[in-house]
Amino acid sequence: MGNLKDKVIITAALCGAGTTKAQNPNVPITPEEIAADVVACAKAGAAIVHLHVRDENGVNSMEPSRFIEVVTLARKACEEVGVDVIFNCTTSGGKWPEEKRLGHLPELLPEMCSCSPGTMNWSNSYVFLNTPQFIEKLGTLTQELKIKPEIEIFDAGMMGNLNYYIKKGFIAEPPHVQFVLGVTGGMPGNIESLSYLLPKLPEGATWSITGIGKSHMPMMLAGLSAGCNGLRVGLEDNIYMEKGVLATNVSLVERAVELCKVVGREIATPAEAREILGLVKQK
Ligand code: ZN
Repeated sequence: MGNLKDKVIITAALCGAGTTKAQNPNVPITPEEIAADVVACAKAGAAIVHLHVRDENGVNSMEPSRFIEVVTLARKACEEVGVDVIFNCTTSGGKWPEEKRLGHLPELLPEMCSCSPGTMNWSNSYVFLNTPQFIEKLGTLTQELKIKPEIEIFDAGMMGNLNYYIKKGFIAEPPHVQFVLGVTGGMPGNIESLSYLLPKLPEGATWSITGIGKSHMPMMLAGLSAGCNGLRVGLEDNIYMEKGVLATNVSLVERAVELCKVVGREIATPAEAREILGLVKQK
């Protein structure tokens, strides 16, 4: 089985809140398309799928009923073909009331959910809103429901906040951190950002990394060089394989698997990822 610390947990972030079919027709939007990509990415080597959902017009939705529809369908699709994967549901969506952003968690009990410990101006277009009250509520709820929060760090101040919320007991130790670098308004996707962030990780933390757009590949390489526990790929973060060549979620997962092989790192199975991250399988 090898040393668990050496394994790489691949997360597939399938569609995000904003990627459109016009940008890349391969982005899954409908519940059926998302469920199909969950299965395909799990088969290709992703241990975790990070999910957002859309309404019937393809617009970002935090409606709990939509999450329940999508995740239930995806779980059934996985079961039918005997594929295991960890579900990580987003909680982002500043335009939505806080209770909607949390509404799917007690219903679905996913093993993981996102948690961003701070607010920023997203690509200078809207406020990526995470109020202190929301973070406290989310932190408390995830501990009650035994859902492991994936701490998404977009900006330097969020790293200090993570340590603050751990000290205050809202986030349990050891945390799992996802560095999402290269969003305009947050930290750029470069080595300098990662070098700033890594020494500030709490003791025992596990960490994964993704770079947005053109910083996608550089941040994967930087993560592997710095000994990451995970890589995140997917059409939420990057729509190209290379300049002018559109990606699919599966092609991005397959490339991450190949990169890990090149640097001599094994891929973590979902079962191994559960052990590494200390997840509680509930459903
Ligand atoms: Zn997301």
